[in-house]
Formats: sequence, C-alpha cells, structure tokens
Amino acid sequence: MVSEAENSREQKTPKIPVWDLPDVPKGELPQHIQLQRTRVHCTFDAPTHTENVQYSGAYAAMGVDNSLRLGEFRKNFKVEVIKLTEDDMEFDMIGIDAAIANAFRRILIAELPTMAIEKVFVANNTSVVQDEVLAHRLGLVPLQVDPRHFNYISENDEPTEKNTIVFKLHVRCERGSPRIKVKSGDLQWLPNGSGFVRSTEKSNPDSTSKTKTYTSFSSSQDSLPEFVDKPIAPKHDDIVLSKLGPGQEIELEAHAVKGMGKTHAKWSPVATAWYRMLPEIVLLQDIEGEKAEELVKKCPVKVFDIEDFGKGQKRATVARPRSCTLCRECIRGDDWETLVAVRRVKDHFIFTIESTGALPPEVLFTEAVKILEDKCERVISELS
Ligand code: SF4
Repeated sequence: MVSEAENSREQKTPKIPVWDLPDVPKGELPQHIQLQRTRVHCTFDAPTHTENVQYSGAYAAMGVDNSLRLGEFRKNFKVEVIKLTEDDMEFDMIGIDAAIANAFRRILIAELPTMAIEKVFVANNTSVVQDEVLAHRLGLVPLQVDPRHFNYISENDEPTEKNTIVFKLHVRCERGSPRIKVKSGDLQWLPNGSGFVRSTEKSNPDSTSKTKTYTSFSSSQDSLPEFVDKPIAPKHDDIVLSKLGPGQEIELEAHAVKGMGKTHAKWSPVATAWYRMLPEIVLLQDIEGEKAEELVKKCPVKVFDIEDFGKGQKRATVARPRSCTLCRECIRGDDWETLVAVRRVKDHFIFTIESTGALPPEVLFTEAVKILEDKCERVISELS
C-alpha cells in the first residue's frame, strides 16, 4: 500500500521523459547516418536511403531518441507560401512526414466535395456528338460555386434548391448559317429549378394539380445571399462541348449535384495536387575553370552558375537548387559523382495545388486540413 507521504512525493515530482534523464547519454548521430536519416541520396543508378526511419529506438544504442514528440513537431513544422494566384498555389511544408503530405494530396484529389453535372435531360440533340458523350463532356465542366452551400443528394431525395443546380442549354444553328461551336458559356443557370415538365404529369388530362417539373424548388436560388453578387456559372466560358452544322440543334437541361472525386473525377476540386521533396545540390569539392563551365552546360534547368573569384579564375556555384528536376545529368560520366551530390530533403515538401475553380487553392488546403482533423478525431474516439 502506498503511504500518504509517498503519494504526495509522487505528485510533487514532475514526470521526466526517459530521454531527458541526466544519466542517459545525449549522443549525436555520425554525419553519414544523419545524412541517411534526413536525405534521399540520388546516385546515377538509383535513389538510395528513400525510407523514413520511424522506429523510436532505432538509434538508441547511440543515445539518440528517434521518437516523435509533439512539442518538437510543433516547433519545427512550418508552412511557407511561395506563390499564390487565383487558381494555383505553391507552398513549402517543412518538418512533416511523407505519409502526412500524401494524406493531404489524396484528400485534395478525392475527398473534397464540389458540384458537378450528374444528370442530363436531353430534349433534342441533332449534333454529331451522341447524348452519352455530350453528358460526359458536360459533367467535366468545372462550376464556379462553393459546394459548402449545398447538401448531398441521395437516390430517394427530391432535387431541391439545397442540393441541385439546374442549367439549361439551348443552341440552334440556323439553316444557311456557318457552323457554330456550343461552349460552356452557353449553359444558363435556372435559379428556379427545372423548366421541363415531367411527362407523366403532362399526359394526365384529368390532373388538376400544378404542373410538376424534374425539381421541387421552394425558393429561387438567386434570392440566397451567397448567390446575389455571384451567380452560379461554369468557371470557363470557352470549353467547346460540340459543334453544330446548319439546321442542327441541342436542347437539354443539366442538373449538378454535390459529390467527391473518389466517386468520379469530375467532382475533384483540383486539376492536380502534387508534391516533391526539396532538392539539395552540394558541390563536394571546388569545381573550377573548364570543369566549372562543363558543369554549367550539363544542367538543362540552369541550377549552376559561374562565379569569378579574381584574376579571371572561375568557380562553379549552386545558384538555383529549387529548380532541379533530378535528371542526374550533372553526375553522369567520369568522376562527377565524387564532385557533386544530388539529394532530396526528406521532411521538406514543395506542394502545388491547381484548383479547377470551385474554390480558391488556399481554401482547398484549409478544407483538406479540416477533413484530416476529423478523421484523426474519429480514430481517437473509436479507440478510446
Ligand atoms: S540533377 Fe539535373 S536538374 Fe538537377 S542539378 Fe543535376 S543536372 Fe541540374
């Protein structure tokens, strides 16, 4: 039985992690092991040391703690935005594992919802593009609308102003006119819902009820504050959907709903989301004179420069390492591998997001963070 005195002594003594105890050796990894731990080495044959050492006791024999500590992670983790435009964003994520960077990439591609055309009601199509192909092309048109204003629709749900966006497309090429292009800009938003009458209702002559269409909107979408200043439309007006010859016509209604990229790529909010590790190019010796000029010529993306260090003597320098594409031309042949080291930093990712237009790229990333957070919370609650 623990006495009261012992109990209070325990409460007063702060808990110290084993690695912080004074008699545990505070070793440092030898330089070559530290390099293997933190860098991918790109030799001419193949990259080596590509794995991440996860095991907390991997370097215990050398007195080095390899466990992941939240405090350390918080201190080291950084996000630096390098470029931000309306549709593109490039940023550096520093101090993170490849698995987490990849989780963001996968969430961005497959788990962030958008609105995309799912159902197409074709009233007339005499163009050379078949109905199915036209419907597929319509589905891939990016729509400029924030999906957070809409709900998901299930098979048995009625299409309402909260889960469906309706577009009308009616283009005709008159006889005697030159051929015309049908473009995404011809899609007209119908804020009051479908204008097509359901055939079952129409064919019932005794029906006194109101004419039923393919949607049940209780209010107009353009009266909603979020769409007053920004009407719903395709992101780009110039996507060619079909071409019409004289006398040909397309009349249809397209219904867009909320979905995710894992169901179909048309719902993916990004054209692409990708990352690469930060390149690190190191000159292992001074490279001077003709050899320096040869090195500059070897690199197709101009990573190296020549520096004049007096009396016409020239020396190679690494000027633009970030541009390196890992083509490994600079280490091809002779003794170049002993002069130049091509490496990648394992915990520094150059991340690029190209939005299709539904949401700005910086919003897409913050939404991806929220989804990952939700997933982590779900796992914690399941385990506890
Ligand atoms: S690997 Fe290719 S791109 Fe990178 S520095 Fe060498 S030559 Fe240039």
